[in-house]
Amino acid sequence: MEQRYDIAIIGTGPAGISAAITAAARNKRVLLLGSTGSSDKVSKAHLIRNYPGLPEISGDALAEHFLEHLKKMDIQITDRKVAMIYAMGAYFSLQIDQDFVEASTVILASGVSFGKSLPGEDENLGRGVSYCATCDAALYRGKEAVVAGYAPKEESDARFLAEMAEKVVYLPVYKNADLEAMPDNLFPDRPNIEVRKSRPKSISKRDGRMVLETDEGEIETDGIFLLRESVSPDKLVPGLVLDGNHVKVDRAMATNLPGFFAAGDITGTPYQYIKAAGEGNVAALSAVSYLDRQK
Ligand SMILES: Cc1cc2nc3c(=O)[nH]c(=O)nc-3n(C[C@H](O)[C@H](O)[C@H](O)COP(=O)(O)OP(=O)(O)OC[C@H]3O[C@@H](n4cnc5c(N)ncnc54)[C@H](O)[C@@H]3O)c2cc1C
Repeated sequence: MEQRYDIAIIGTGPAGISAAITAAARNKRVLLLGSTGSSDKVSKAHLIRNYPGLPEISGDALAEHFLEHLKKMDIQITDRKVAMIYAMGAYFSLQIDQDFVEASTVILASGVSFGKSLPGEDENLGRGVSYCATCDAALYRGKEAVVAGYAPKEESDARFLAEMAEKVVYLPVYKNADLEAMPDNLFPDRPNIEVRKSRPKSISKRDGRMVLETDEGEIETDGIFLLRESVSPDKLVPGLVLDGNHVKVDRAMATNLPGFFAAGDITGTPYQYIKAAGEGNVAALSAVSYLDRQK
C-alpha cells in the first residue's frame, strides 16, 4: 500500500463505489476498502425497481455493474476491514488489522448494520472487549477468549485467534441461520475452538476476568471479541459527532472532523441506493475541494 493516499473510502456499497468513481475521475490517489463483491445489501436484493436507467434489475446484476465500472476505471478494491480511524491533524491514520495506512481525507460509507451495543460492551471496550481479532490476537497468547461471530466469514478470525489463544469459545450469531442444522464441530482441525450455539446478552467483569452472559448461561474468559459486519461510527472514529445513530453531516457531507466526510445509509434515512450513490458523489467532490484548499 502507498505511503499516503489522497482519499481513503471505507465501504463498497453504492455510496463508497460512487465516491471512488468521482475521486478517481478527479485524478486522486484512492484507497477503496470493503468487499470485492460490493455490499450484501446490494447483491442480496431480489428486484430493484427504483435505480434510474435500470428499471428492473436484480441486486446481483447491479453489484456486477458497479464492479465492472470500477474495473473500467482501474480502481481496485482492498478486501480488508478498517478497525479504527484516528484524526492526526493534517491526515488520518487507518488501522487495518495490524497495519496502519495514512490518508489526507476519509469518506466513511460503511452502511448501517451496527445495531445496539450489548449492556457492558461500551464500558469494557479496549479493556477486555475488542472488535478486531487480527489486531488484538497477540494479547491472548496462552489465554482464553470468546468470539461472537455475526457472519460465517468471522470463522477465519476465530481460527487465527486460536493459533495463539489456549482456548476459544465461538458463538455463531448468524442472521437467519438454522443453528440446529449447523455441525457442532465447525472447526474439526482446531480442537481448541469450542462452538456454543448461544447468543450474547451482556458483558461484565468479575475478579479481573470477563464474563459474557448468554441466553444459555455465563462464560468466564479473558477477552471477548464481537465481530460484527460494521462498528458504530463513533467507536470506529474517536471524536466523530453523531446525530442519533447516524453520522452528523452538512450538505457537503462534511462531518465535524476537518477532512472527514460520510455518505450513504450511515448519514441517515431514507436508506436507498440512489441516495447513497448521490451522497458518495458529493462527498468525493467535497474531499477534492478540501485537498485543493490544503495546497
Ligand atoms: C434486502 C434489501 C433490499 C433492498 N432493496 C432496495 C431497493 O430496491 N431500492 C433501494 O433504493 N434500496 C434498497 N435497499 C437499501 C440499500 O441496500 C441501502 O440503502 C444501500 O445499500 C446503502 O448503501 P451504502 O453504500 O450506504 O451502504 P452498504 O450498501 O450497506 O455498504 C456498506 C459497505 O461498507 C463495508 N464496511 C462496513 N464496515 C467496514 C469496515 N470497518 N471496513 C471496511 N469496509 C466496511 C461493507 O462491507 C459494505 O461493503 C435494500 C436493502 C436490503 C437489505
